[in-house]
Amino acid sequence: MTGGRPRRVVFEFAAGSSIAETYHSQGADFGLAGGILGFDTADPRIVDALELAKHAGIEIEFRIVDFETDHPNVFRVTAIDENKKQIEAELISCGGGMVEIRQIANIPVSINGGFFETLLLFAGCAPDIVHACRDSINANSVSCDDLLLFRNDKSEYILDCRGQSEMPGEFLRRVVKNFPVKDVIVLSPVLPVKSQKEYSGLFNTASEILEMAGHERLSLADTAIRYETRRSGLNETEVFNKMAEIVAVLKKTLKDAASAQQEYPDRILGRQARLLPEKGVATGGVLHSVIRHITLLMEAKSSMRIIVAAPTAGSCGAVPGTLIGAAEALGLPEDAVVKAMLAAGMVGVLIAEHSTFSGEMGGCQAECGSASGMAAAGMVQLLGGTTEQALDAASMALQNVFGLTCDPVASRVEVPCLGKNIMAGSNALAMAELAMAGFDKVIPLDETIAAMYRVGLSLPVELRCTGKGGLSITPTSMRIQQKLEG
Ligand code: SF4
Repeated sequence: MTGGRPRRVVFEFAAGSSIAETYHSQGADFGLAGGILGFDTADPRIVDALELAKHAGIEIEFRIVDFETDHPNVFRVTAIDENKKQIEAELISCGGGMVEIRQIANIPVSINGGFFETLLLFAGCAPDIVHACRDSINANSVSCDDLLLFRNDKSEYILDCRGQSEMPGEFLRRVVKNFPVKDVIVLSPVLPVKSQKEYSGLFNTASEILEMAGHERLSLADTAIRYETRRSGLNETEVFNKMAEIVAVLKKTLKDAASAQQEYPDRILGRQARLLPEKGVATGGVLHSVIRHITLLMEAKSSMRIIVAAPTAGSCGAVPGTLIGAAEALGLPEDAVVKAMLAAGMVGVLIAEHSTFSGEMGGCQAECGSASGMAAAGMVQLLGGTTEQALDAASMALQNVFGLTCDPVASRVEVPCLGKNIMAGSNALAMAELAMAGFDKVIPLDETIAAMYRVGLSLPVELRCTGKGGLSITPTSMRIQQKLEG
């Protein structure tokens, strides 16, 4: 971000915030270090990133300090590069590995990593000059899809040039020569699929999805493909193949987890999936397979292997474990799993738009609860149901998880997280069955999601991933935490 190689990076978390409590126990520290080293999200070296940063001569420090925040997951970063250039930013961790930069150099911005962005900083110059620079870029730049202007109350400005590729160096040099630009920051996209300027949205609600699907007889997976082509600029085959790649990653993780000795020192649970018998004892074949697949994915997560945050790392088992596990038990082909994952993703889009995936904001209903709604819709798709049935299943599954607390034992994402993922998968199976049988969901999905958001925000802060309530403060949890940290 500073342009040169980073030499020192300081992360500051607000005392008492959720992220201050969990950044170490939940692995955000090495995830952030991996980001500084430029690792891809699927890079297995992320787990060693703190050590690797040290070897690379980058000093990384984490501090808990007193500052006012309006969000439980805000943190500040100060980065100094080899040329002693310093940049300060404020970010929010939004859940599922996503962050939003909301301030750079004390100027409010909104950046989520979907574009190449060239930021031009101005200080101490008249607004006319900044506007003239903007007009000049607008008139000339070929790589700029969108040009945004941010400012603070000290009349400092950031001109943010967003595009599908980097601003050409020659053009940037000309801009800097012709205008009094104080600083330039160049950001590359971090999302796996870049965003498009023109996404105006085919639909914003479940009822709009239903209307479109009804007119054109589309399944929920079809609507997801249509949404994603519009959002990403990829064609339908490319969208399908992207999801097929994700399913392939998941299947490899499952295979490795089933065969290898996966353990990680800083954890509570040992391997659990191997305790399950070949065939379900009390449960039927599909549920047994779902439980096994969810458990394997959660073990892979706990041993720091590659997982897919769907929608978050803590809830990474429920959606893929349910859909892959059920497909395996029912002998369904891989294409059916890909479509089911796309359908589940469509419900995820609605939740992201109108609620939250952040356990710190909405408790575990935001994580495992959302996953359950997504998996329920995916199950209906897998079983050949209609879009209406899929959305009804999602609504019923979500209605069942309101108020789910986030109170992990010893602040590790293991207990009760494994059980909650399995509950999310079981709930999804049951609600898919009800929806396909024609049970009445009564409350439509849009209203359910809105209500879920309100319930999440009204949960006491002790039960939203702060380690200050529920199971987290039981004597056993405290003992385990002391032991692990000792
Ligand atoms: S209990 Fe908390 S940490 Fe565990 S999965 Fe749920 S939201 Fe994540």
